Amino acid sequence: MHASIPQSDNNDLTEDDFRDRVAALTATIAETAVQAGRLPEEVRLLPVSKSFSADVVATAVRAGLTVLGENRPLEMAEKAQVIPGVQWCIIGPVQRNKAREVAQYAHELHSLDSLRLAETLEQRLVAADRHLDVLLQVNASHEQAKHGLHPDEVAPLLDQLAHFERVHVRGLMTLAAYSTEETVVRSAFQELRELRDRLVPNLPDGMSLQELSMGMSSDYRWAILEGSTTVRIGTAIFGHRSNSVYLK
Ligand SMILES: *Cc1c(COP(=O)(O)O)cnc(C)c1O
Repeated sequence: MHASIPQSDNNDLTEDDFRDRVAALTATIAETAVQAGRLPEEVRLLPVSKSFSADVVATAVRAGLTVLGENRPLEMAEKAQVIPGVQWCIIGPVQRNKAREVAQYAHELHSLDSLRLAETLEQRLVAADRHLDVLLQVNASHEQAKHGLHPDEVAPLLDQLAHFERVHVRGLMTLAAYSTEETVVRSAFQELRELRDRLVPNLPDGMSLQELSMGMSSDYRWAILEGSTTVRIGTAIFGHRSNSVYLK
């Protein structure tokens, strides 16, 4: 193999593999929703294709995946230019100098964490004549290293975002603590839901906090039990990211 040619991922997934994995996840999501006294259609599966090559992602799209999560704006923009027909969701931290790519290609942003980023996005969205659904990322696990707003910062930011015309607030997002302890992981999800419930009665007109984006491959069942409406699943669909072409 020629060293200068980017090798494809160590990943020979077929369209059927993607369909099987999504079907299995969809069944588990539905079961878990019912277990929580919820309706299966209240929980959306967001497959996370970050770090996988455009070839792999194109196979997933042919298998019927049409909404995909990415964590880096430039990587999303690259893929968006060669893979049409996808609604891209940015789920990772965004620097303001990448707002242009987000405004141009993203359908949703799950990681809004500052007024300044929202202002830059609004400008870029006007220029691109597009709109963007956003979720505010909250640091509900209280880990120092995590991105996101302190829970107390959410209400003031919602008020400031009320008059934005292109950036539309739809909900909240969080990442749980990196732990295998059910009580530790669930407490972050529970905190996000309770924060949402406290904020809803005083929301600015026209704003909604319907969406709770929480849960990943390792913890999505707990997230659904705590009220998640969107689970962001990478590894359980695409496999491990260690050999990805984007991680060199
Ligand atoms: C990568 C990522 C995911 C998916 O993680 P998996 O464990 O692979 O399912 C979900 N959310 C965010 C914010 C991510 O960066």
